[in-house]
Amino acid sequence: MRLGLFGGRFDPPHLGHLLAAQSAFEALALDELWFIPAKTPPHKPALASADARVQMLLLATLSNPAFEVSRLELLRDGPSYTFDTVMETKKLRPDATLFFIIGVDAYADVASWHRAHELVRAVDMVAVARPGYTLGNLEPAFRRVQTLETRLCDVSSTEIRSRLNRRESVRYLLPELVETYLDRTSLYRQ
Ligand code: ATP
Repeated sequence: MRLGLFGGRFDPPHLGHLLAAQSAFEALALDELWFIPAKTPPHKPALASADARVQMLLLATLSNPAFEVSRLELLRDGPSYTFDTVMETKKLRPDATLFFIIGVDAYADVASWHRAHELVRAVDMVAVARPGYTLGNLEPAFRRVQTLETRLCDVSSTEIRSRLNRRESVRYLLPELVETYLDRTSLYRQ
């Protein structure tokens, strides 16, 4: 079975994440795709709690049985590294061929990640397109990445948080169920 892992802060999840995930799902002929919300470090916290980000991801993926939300990184003690997540998933699903899906903007920083050289050898890295970003000039070791010309969607969590904070509409930028959750909780409206 072919399993895609899609990590991120998802603070909040939006249509850019879902369209990238769906494009990767189709292009890689995946059987399952796991959204893996990151445990955020104390110096760069997410605005929403881990529980709220999981809740929003569950709502965002509710209608798609192939999309799962994994708490792997949230349940682990100490800092949460992608390398550990990949190793843990390999143990959990030894039958699976794994793909780590990431936006080109995030992959551009891969050299600074924990055990980055081992990571890119341990799993197939797949970079999805994101408007306004390119992979840039990667060190040769990190060119082991497949790029996917996925459907472009110019939405970011930062923009959504700012719009909510200014009491502007976020309609159609994220799934309706997530929008309703944000309305009900007043999340991001300081
Ligand atoms: P923020 O604005 O808070 O930095 P973000 O919108 O970039 O958040 P993240 O949760 O940090 O969202 O992203 C998770 C993953 O999804 C990253 O690999 C990122 O590159 C990718 N991603 C986010 N938005 C898009 C988008 N619009 N199109 C393609 N990939 C995206």
